[in-house]
Amino acid sequence: MFFIFVQTEYDYIIIGAGAAGLMLAEALGNDPYFKDKTVLLVDKDAKKTNDRTWCFWEKCAGDFDQIINKSWSQIQFEGENYEANHEIAPYTYKMLRGLDFYSNYLNRIQAYENITFSQALVTGIVDHKSHVQVTTENGNYCAEQVFNSIFDYKSLYQQTKYPVLQQHFIGWFIKSDKPVFNPEKATFMDFSVPQKGNTRFMYVLPFSETEGLVEYTLFSADTLPEEEYENAIKNYIKEKLNCTQYEIIEKERGNIPMTCYNFSGHNSPNILQIGIAGGWAKASTGYTFMSTNKKIKELLAFLKKNKPLNSFTTKNRYWYYDLLLLDILYKDNSKGRHIFESLFKGSRPQLIFKFLDEDTNIKEDLQIISSCPKSYFTKALFNRLF
Ligand SMILES: Cc1cc2nc3c(=O)[nH]c(=O)nc-3n(C[C@H](O)[C@H](O)[C@H](O)COP(=O)(O)OP(=O)(O)OC[C@H]3O[C@@H](n4cnc5c(N)ncnc54)[C@H](O)[C@@H]3O)c2cc1C
Repeated sequence: MFFIFVQTEYDYIIIGAGAAGLMLAEALGNDPYFKDKTVLLVDKDAKKTNDRTWCFWEKCAGDFDQIINKSWSQIQFEGENYEANHEIAPYTYKMLRGLDFYSNYLNRIQAYENITFSQALVTGIVDHKSHVQVTTENGNYCAEQVFNSIFDYKSLYQQTKYPVLQQHFIGWFIKSDKPVFNPEKATFMDFSVPQKGNTRFMYVLPFSETEGLVEYTLFSADTLPEEEYENAIKNYIKEKLNCTQYEIIEKERGNIPMTCYNFSGHNSPNILQIGIAGGWAKASTGYTFMSTNKKIKELLAFLKKNKPLNSFTTKNRYWYYDLLLLDILYKDNSKGRHIFESLFKGSRPQLIFKFLDEDTNIKEDLQIISSCPKSYFTKALFNRLF
């Protein structure tokens, strides 16, 4: 029996049409510099389901405003001994639905003649130096350069140098029969829930007085049985929101790696890991969407220089800050509430956002650091150094 493998050639192949893949494809299509480059975008999924909700903070108008579903100008933080409602201007906390993003971006990409979208499961990627071969269940493709957003926890657990935590959660979109939400403010972190030796909090996004997303979230090493998240959500809706009559409209669940692992070790001259697979999730929070948007802009400028792809990533000082926090939480997961409570008590949310966006100066870094429990961080620093 003879097998004929068709090899189609592209300049670039983007694997995964999620946040990173779609942002990259759209940016390449939209930039006249790349108009002669052929691009294949491949995903195993048609991207027709609303599988996630993205939130991020932003000053003024931004790239996604056209598809923003809701935004808030206030956020609520609740700890054990401290509770506050913050006006976050000039920032707003913005939300978009996964499906709106996928549809909007796929439509825009379809309009670019040099970009093709193909639905196929990718089973292999090999850098042959002269080209990269991508194997899929529908055939083989080759390209000069490949951007890969397939993420697998396996490599994180095969090393012990960097602790691996996860931001894991289940959220319910509910509709109540009486007003229970304040649609003006998003609950960023509510640590009033039992901690059970972990860092556990509720995240609430109110869409109206009767509709909202209630999400039980942990920053910890291990996930929980499904009913533990669901029981916590049920209790919170009953006890905290004082609501007994409601309908569950939709559910979402997620699991985002929180680690300082060196993801760029998987890159080669012609293959770049992007999105979560590239380590673009902020290690200390799991927020990835806007850091991906920022990285895509940097990547486009980098591609114009024709350098090997594995020279793209750079480590900055925020990597060390994140590492210390993760070391602390990995060693004693119950310390999260105290750390975040001290942070929000001692710093304005605007400064916290700026710090998490990695845009602060050293003076501002010190302001943030001084609002955190110093003994934890000094000890973690000492352990890393010696
Ligand atoms: C429910 C949920 C909510 C989140 N909320 C936020 C938030 O509010 N704010 C924030 O900043 N971050 C959030 N995140 C984190 C992060 O922004 C998202 O996970 C984001 O989608 C990551 O983008 P990505 O491109 O790396 O991965 P993905 O968007 O997951 O894209 C990867 C793509 O690869 C495809 N794929 C996988 N394997 C294969 C294969 N073998 N062959 C072909 N295709 C394949 C998948 O189908 C997928 O489309 C959330 C994550 C989840 C899961």
